[in-house]
Amino acid sequence: MTPGAVTVVGRGPAGLFAATLLAAAGLSVHVVSSSSGTLPLWSGRFNFRDWDQGMVVDNPWDWWMEHGEQHFVGGTARARWRRLWSIWRAVGQQLGMDSAIPERNRWTVTPLGRRRPVFWTPPWELALDRAPVAVAVVGLEGLLDFEPELVADGFQGPGAVRTLRLPWPPDWHRGWNTVRWGAFLDTGSGADWLEQQLVRALGRGPAGELVVLPQVLGLSRTDVLHQRLERRLDRLVREVGLAPPGLGGMRLEARWTAWLLSSGVQMHHGRVRAIRDAGGITLTDGRPVGEGPVILATGGILGGGVCLSADGTGVDAIHRRLLGQLAEGDDPARALQWGLVLGDGGVAGRQTAGCDPDVHGDGGAVCLWTAAEAVDRVVPGLVDRLSRIGTVEVAVLDVSVRGPQTHKEAQRV
Ligand SMILES: Cc1cc2nc3c(=O)[nH]c(=O)nc-3n(C[C@H](O)[C@H](O)[C@H](O)COP(=O)(O)OP(=O)(O)OC[C@H]3O[C@@H](n4cnc5c(N)ncnc54)[C@H](O)[C@@H]3O)c2cc1C
Repeated sequence: MTPGAVTVVGRGPAGLFAATLLAAAGLSVHVVSSSSGTLPLWSGRFNFRDWDQGMVVDNPWDWWMEHGEQHFVGGTARARWRRLWSIWRAVGQQLGMDSAIPERNRWTVTPLGRRRPVFWTPPWELALDRAPVAVAVVGLEGLLDFEPELVADGFQGPGAVRTLRLPWPPDWHRGWNTVRWGAFLDTGSGADWLEQQLVRALGRGPAGELVVLPQVLGLSRTDVLHQRLERRLDRLVREVGLAPPGLGGMRLEARWTAWLLSSGVQMHHGRVRAIRDAGGITLTDGRPVGEGPVILATGGILGGGVCLSADGTGVDAIHRRLLGQLAEGDDPARALQWGLVLGDGGVAGRQTAGCDPDVHGDGGAVCLWTAAEAVDRVVPGLVDRLSRIGTVEVAVLDVSVRGPQTHKEAQRV
C-alpha cells in the first residue's frame, strides 16, 4: 500500500534527493535534520566515479557496468543510472541550473593547479572536454584560497595562459572570507566593481579566451552576474571551486530547499532520537514529528543510518543499537544489509557498500542511487514512474553505449 506521507531524516544531498522524488510524486513529505548537510562544504558538482585505484576513470558509465556487481548496483546499472541522471538533470533545470549530463568525465583544475575529473557540474563551474584555446586566470588580491599562478599550472597545453590579479575593492578587509566575497559580489556595487576591473584588466584578449575566477561570484545573484560578465567581456566565465566552505554548494542547497518548501515539503529542525512504530520520528526533546515510513539519510562515515567505527563495529545512527561487526577482510557490502533492519524506510547516503567518496570520487552518484533505492522501498516503482520534477519533464537520457573497456583509456595522475 502506498503511504500518504514519508519522513526523511537528513538534509544532505541524499535526503534532499529522496524528498524531491517523493514530493514530485505528490506524497506528503517531512524532512527532519539537526543541522545542514555537507552541501555548504563543496562546490555542488556531482561526481559519478572519478578514480579507480589512483587512475582517472574516463567513462564512469562503463566503469559502473563493469564494477556494479561488486558494489550495490548490480547488472542493471546503465539503465538505472541513465534514469537517475535524467531525473537529476530535471532537478537541475527546475533549480535554474541547466547542465547537460555528460557521456564521460570531463576535467577541471583545483585551486592547487591539479587537473581532476568531473562529471555533472552546475553551469557556473569550470568543466572542460579539451584544453581551451586561451585562458585568463584571474585572482583577487587578498583572497588567499586562489593563487592564479598555481591554478594556471593546470592548463598547461597548447593554449595561451595568462594570469591576472584584481586589486582590493573599496572597503575590503583582511577578514573577508569566500562567503563575504560572495555577499559583496551579490550587491550592485560589488557587481559594478568586478565588471569594471575585469574590463580594465583583460583588455581585448585573444579570441575565444576563457575567463577563470575563484568561486565567489555571489550567493543568490550568481546567474545574473555570470550573464552580465559574459555579455560585457564577450567571453565564457567559469569558476573554480575552493576549499570549504563552498559557495557552489550553498547556492545549490538554498535553491533546492526553497524549491522543496514551495512544493509543500515540511522542514523540521531537531535531533532524532527514535523512529516511532506509528510512523514518523521522535526528537530528543520528546516531540513527535512527521508521519509514515522513515528514510534515514543521516550521512557520517558509512551514511544512511549506519555509523561504522574504525574497529568495524556498526551501530544505527538513531538508537545506537549494535547492528554488526565487520572482521578484517570482510566485504563492506555486509554493512549495507545492516541498514535494512532500520524500520520500513530505506537508507541513503555516502559510503555505502565499499564506496568511499573521498577515495573514489562517487559521492554525488551514491547519494542519488541510494536515495532512489530507499524511495522505491517505501513506494515500489516510484522512480521509474516519475515523469516530471515540478514543471520540468524528465527526458530520456541518450548516452551512447560504448565498449566495456573504455574506462581503461585512463591516465595516471
Ligand atoms: C568537504 C566535502 C567535499 C565534497 N565534495 C564533493 C564533490 O565535489 N562531489 C560530490 O559528488 N560529493 C562531494 N562530497 C559529498 C560526499 O562525498 C558525500 O557523498 C555526501 O556528503 C553525503 O551526503 P549525505 O546526504 O549522505 O549526508 P550529509 O550531507 O552528511 O547529511 C547528513 C544529514 O543528516 C542529519 N542527521 C544526522 N543524524 C541526525 C539525527 N540523529 N537527527 C537529525 N538529523 C540528523 C544531519 O544534520 C545532516 O542534515 C563532499 C563532501 C564533503 C564533506
